[in-house]
Amino acid sequence: MRPDILNPLFAEISLFKGIGPALARPLERLGLARAVDVAFHIPVSWVDRHLTDELDMADAGRVIGTMLTPVDYRASGSPRAPFRVQAIDKRANVVSLVYFGKNSAWPRKLLPLNEPKFVSGKLEAYGDALQMVHPDYVLPPEEAATVPARESVYGLSEGLTNNRMRDIAGQALARAPELPEWIEPSLLARKDWPAWKDALARVHADPSDAKARERLAYDEIFAGQLALMLVRQSSRRRRGVPIEGDGRLRAMLKLPFAPTGAQRRAIGEIEGDMAQATPMLRLLQGDVGSGKTLVALMALLNAVEAGMQGAMLAPTEILARQHYETLRKMASGLPIEIAILTGREKGKVREATLMGLADGSIHILVGTHAIFQEAVQYKALGLAVIDEQHRFGVAQRMMLASKAERSPHLLVMTATPIPRTLTLTYYGEMDVSRLDEMPPGRQPIQTVVMAASRLDEVVDALARHVESGGQAYWVCPLVEESETSDQAAAEMRAETLRQRFGDRVGLVHGKMKGADKDAAMEAFAANRTQILVATTVIEVGVDVPNSSLIIIEGAERFGLAQLHQLRGRVGRGDKPSVCLLLRGNALGETSRARLALMRETNDGFRIAEEDLKLRGAGEVLGTRQSGEAELKVATPEHVAALVDAARDDAHLLIERDGGLDSARGQAARICLYLFEKDAAVGLLRGG
Ligand code: ADP
Ligand code: MG
Repeated sequence: MRPDILNPLFAEISLFKGIGPALARPLERLGLARAVDVAFHIPVSWVDRHLTDELDMADAGRVIGTMLTPVDYRASGSPRAPFRVQAIDKRANVVSLVYFGKNSAWPRKLLPLNEPKFVSGKLEAYGDALQMVHPDYVLPPEEAATVPARESVYGLSEGLTNNRMRDIAGQALARAPELPEWIEPSLLARKDWPAWKDALARVHADPSDAKARERLAYDEIFAGQLALMLVRQSSRRRRGVPIEGDGRLRAMLKLPFAPTGAQRRAIGEIEGDMAQATPMLRLLQGDVGSGKTLVALMALLNAVEAGMQGAMLAPTEILARQHYETLRKMASGLPIEIAILTGREKGKVREATLMGLADGSIHILVGTHAIFQEAVQYKALGLAVIDEQHRFGVAQRMMLASKAERSPHLLVMTATPIPRTLTLTYYGEMDVSRLDEMPPGRQPIQTVVMAASRLDEVVDALARHVESGGQAYWVCPLVEESETSDQAAAEMRAETLRQRFGDRVGLVHGKMKGADKDAAMEAFAANRTQILVATTVIEVGVDVPNSSLIIIEGAERFGLAQLHQLRGRVGRGDKPSVCLLLRGNALGETSRARLALMRETNDGFRIAEEDLKLRGAGEVLGTRQSGEAELKVATPEHVAALVDAARDDAHLLIERDGGLDSARGQAARICLYLFEKDAAVGLLRGG
C-alpha cells in the first residue's frame, strides 16, 4: 500500500483549479494525469527576460519586459488579419502589439489607450518596425515586479500554453509533501544536493539548476536499482532445483557446425548456474545472428536430461512459431516432445498440450505469453527462456518465476546490444553472458542510403534481384504511433508492388489474423512469394536465409537499434546482402548523421550507444510501446554518471536492512512508491 504521505501527489489533476474539459486532451497527450506526473514534467528549457526601459531593434528575437503606453488601435478590414495596438516607450519608440482572433474587445480592455502598462513578450522585427505577438504579460506598472526574470519553458501540446502549464505545475508543487531523506547522508553531503521537495521546486523555477535536477535523476535511478535488487534478493531467497543433465540428449544433436567460443562460454556459464539450488537469473546478450538459439537449446536439453521441463517464451506469435520450427529441426531424432502454445491454439489442441505439460509428456514448450496463463500447469518446470526480452518487463519476469513452487531457472535473451549503463539500469539484478563473436562464414551486409524520390530505381533493382532468384523484405515506415496507419502504408505498398510483381508479393502486418500472418510468413519462407512487404512485425528473429535484400522505407523514422534489428533479417544465407535505407528528402542534421552511422558500422554495441545518446533509453529498449522502464527525470547522461553510485547505495542499504525497516529503509520505500515500483516493495519479506 502506498504510504499516505504520497497521497496528495497521486491525486488526479482534473481536481485542480481551472482544469476544464478543453485541457483534458492536451494533458492526456502529455501523459499528465496526476500531480506526480506534473511534478516530474520538468521544464525543458527557459527564457531570460530582458528588462529594459527602452525599445531597441537590437533586442529583436529576445523576450523583453518594459513599460509601454498604448496610443492607437489598428483594426483591419479583413477578418483574418490581426488586431494591432500601437504602443510607445518613454522615448516614443513604437511597437505594435499583435492579437490574432476575431474579437478585439479583449485587447482593447487589456490595453486601454494612454494607460501605461508593463508588457512582456518576445520582441520581433517586422520589416523596419517592432512588434510583439500576444504578449505573455500585460500588467499594471506596480505589478511589474511579480514577473519572474527567468521563466521555465515546458513541453507542451496543442491547446496547452506555457502559462497554463506553469500554473498547473504550481498547483502540483503546492501539493508536494516534504519527504524523509532516502539518500545516503554522506553521498548527499558530498554532492551538495537539496532535499527532495526543495529540488523539485528548484528545477521548476529554474531548469538550469543542474544540482537540483541531478538529485531528482538520482532518486529515479536509485529507485530502479533498489527495485532490481529486491527482485534479485527475493529470487535468491527462493529455492530452485539444481539441474545437471547427463549430456545424453545433447550428444545426439547433429549440428552442421561447431559452436563458437562465445557460445561455448555462455553454455558453460548457464550450466554452472543451473547446477545451483538458487535459481539462475541470467541475461544472454548477443547481436542479431550471434547464435542465441543454440545456446537456449543446450540449456533446455540440460533441463530435460535431468527430468525437468523447459519453456521458451517469444514476444510475438511469428517468433514463437519460428522458434518452434527451429528447435524441432535442431532436435529432430531426439526422443523428446516439443509443443507450441499461443493465443491461437484452442479447443482440443490446447487441451492436449495442457495435459501433456501437466503429465510431463511434453518436455519443451514454446509460446507467447499464453504460456503464463493460469490454466498452464507444468509437471516440473526447470528452466524458462525468454527471448527478445526487452518486450517484457520486470513484472513479467517475476510472474514467470512465480509459476512453479520451486522457482525455475531463468535465462533471458536479448538481441539488442545494450550499453553497459542500460544493462545495469534495467537488468541490474541479473548475471550477464555476452555472445561477442559471430559464427564464421557470415556474409557481409552492404548498407546503402537513398532518397525516396528514387523509388523507381529501387523498384528496378528489386526486379533484377527477384529475377535472379533472390528474395527481399520491404519494410514500411512507421506512421505516427498507430498500428492502423502502419497497416495502411504496408497495404498500399503491397498494392503498388503487386501491380508490377503480381502474386510474388506477400504482406504481413501486426493487425492480421494469426493464421493469415503465418500463411504469409510460410509462403515467403518456402519461396512461394519473393517479396515480403511488412511492418516492423518482422523486426525480431525472423529467419529466411534466402532473403538477401531488405528495403526500409522512411528509414529516418526508425530508431537505430531498430534499423539494426531489421537489417539483421538479411545476411543469413550464403549470399552477400544489401540493406537499402530509403530516406525522406528533407532530412535534418541528426537524421543524416544517424543514417550515416548505419552505413558505416555493423557493430550493434556501437549503434546502441549512439542510439542511447540520440533517442533515450525507452526507445533503445523498445519499451515505449509497453510503457515500461521509461525514465521520467534522468537523462542518459545522468544514468551514465550516477548508476554506479546508485547501485552501491542500494546494495549497501539492502545489505544492512534487507527488509527496509530502518528509518532510511522506510524512506527508501517511499522513494520506490514515488517511482511506482510498488511490485518491488511487495517482494519485501512480509512486506
Ligand atoms: P540469434 O537468435 O542470436 O539472432 P540464431 O540463433 O538465429 O541467432 O542464429 C543465426 C544463424 O546462425 C542461424 O542460421 C544458426 O543456425 C546459425 N548458427 C548458430 N550458431 C552457429 C555456429 N556456431 N556456426 C555457424 N552457424 C551458426
Ligand atoms: Mg533469435
